[in-house]
Amino acid sequence: MNKKSLIKTLENLREEIILAQENNQLSTQPVELDQQRIGRLSRIDALQVQEVAKNAERRRDAELRKVEAAIKRLQTGEYGSCLMCGDQIEKRRLILDPAIPTCLICAKNLST
Ligand SMILES: [Zn+2]
Repeated sequence: MNKKSLIKTLENLREEIILAQENNQLSTQPVELDQQRIGRLSRIDALQVQEVAKNAERRRDAELRKVEAAIKRLQTGEYGSCLMCGDQIEKRRLILDPAIPTCLICAKNLST
């Protein structure tokens, strides 16, 4: 993939995450607002839904930072090098996730 289409792919990814964040904001509104409409049990449900939504939001934030960092690396010509060891990231990894910041070996080291 050339640089231009890579930037396009990453910018689309970024757009998707931002859109999902905006949609998610509805479900992270304070539960208290609905207190009169819903009973005690459904309030607990609502809290659980909110917790799930918050976790999803945190994951999206991390993903967004990752994508933005990848766009920056493309612009500075550092794209494709592992952030940890500086080696080339395996092509197959980049195809699966164009924003991936590390090579397979470093990713394995990080997760253990
Ligand atoms: Zn590495």
